[in-house]
Amino acid sequence: MASLELKSLRKEFDGGSIVAVDDLNLEIEDGEFVTVVGPSGCGKSTTLRMIAGLERPTSGRIHVDGADITDVHARHRDVAMVFQNYALYPHKTIQQNMAFGLRMSTDMSAEEREQRVYDAAEMMGIEDLLDDTPGELSGGQKQRVALGRAIVREPDVFLFDEPLSNLDAKLRTTMRTEIQRLQEELGITSVYVTHDQEEAMTMGDRIVILNDGELQQTGKPTHVYQNPTNQFVAGFVGSPSMNFVDVEADPFDGGVRLNGADGSFSYDLTSGRASAFGDIAGGSYVLGIRPEHVAVSEGDVAGTDTIPATVDVVEPVGSDNYLYLDLGTESRSFDTEDAPDFIARVPADIEPEVGDVVQIAFDEDSVHLFETETGEAVTATDAEAVTPMQ
Ligand code: ATP
Repeated sequence: MASLELKSLRKEFDGGSIVAVDDLNLEIEDGEFVTVVGPSGCGKSTTLRMIAGLERPTSGRIHVDGADITDVHARHRDVAMVFQNYALYPHKTIQQNMAFGLRMSTDMSAEEREQRVYDAAEMMGIEDLLDDTPGELSGGQKQRVALGRAIVREPDVFLFDEPLSNLDAKLRTTMRTEIQRLQEELGITSVYVTHDQEEAMTMGDRIVILNDGELQQTGKPTHVYQNPTNQFVAGFVGSPSMNFVDVEADPFDGGVRLNGADGSFSYDLTSGRASAFGDIAGGSYVLGIRPEHVAVSEGDVAGTDTIPATVDVVEPVGSDNYLYLDLGTESRSFDTEDAPDFIARVPADIEPEVGDVVQIAFDEDSVHLFETETGEAVTATDAEAVTPMQ
């Protein structure tokens, strides 16, 4: 077990024309489970490969337990990596696959190796498969073998590169829990890369969000969910995504009036956390609100504490309905192909008809504002002090 530190890590490809990882600083505590998430090409795998020693950083350093391992060969790093495609030797038995790393990197006796492999196989529930070859196993079993092979090495650090992407949805959920259980039991510092924000949110003690090779935010999943540092993070984390609406802000003492940039509404934020936005400068902003923080009531009388919206689609998902709305009293998605979706997640008993005009209101503790130019979240001066978010 060990702490892991990435210091100003940078990786360029093609003579510098591609910057895969850009000045990444990250401290991971001993025993911590960190998930790294971001869109395709944001530098997740490259970061992991640098930690494993499979890719050399262009600049920056990697420390494990305070020791600089940047120039240490992959074979001599106490790091085990689990890949999406299992990477098992097809002609070796499961026993031989799992023992291979031990044979290469330790001077254990054959008996010791056998015992270690058996213990790890037992932990993964695959002890009956040790004499089989990978071809005889299902995808889920192969991934258990790959995990077992990582465990036998008793590494300082576990690295997971999208290990569950090849499995079906049900198996993925089971394996997520297995990996969490394993990590908790063994207490091994882990970095888990995925492009699936739900996986990242549910599995990690801490989540790291990358975009274009740059660190966007890191923190406990719920903290990041409630306090995204910019519009990218706000939109990436959470499903369905946060709604964004262009607004013109007109602050007043104790609140702010938000006027829809397209003229479709005026809405006053006056309570809870949002009232602190009264301190901001007037001008253009992006309003952000998650679907579950939108309240919908039937009726077409608008005030400054509701916004009229026209129902485009009603999507039942069992316990809730997702309402796809056009702000304003007219449905626009028929004339504008790219009319932005505004989604409200409401209890299943709220079932308006398509074309109905409803009134929406926001949970004002959960309203976000972002700078139009930079996407940075606007932090009202005393926002935390007003009402901490639940
Ligand atoms: P994905 O989720 O699609 O696997 P990722 O976030 O893991 O993406 P990386 O594989 O780390 O992203 O790639 C980051 C960037 O670096 C991409 O633009 C990619 O094309 C580029 N890149 C990665 N490896 C190489 C390489 N060996 N040569 C050139 N460019 C590379």
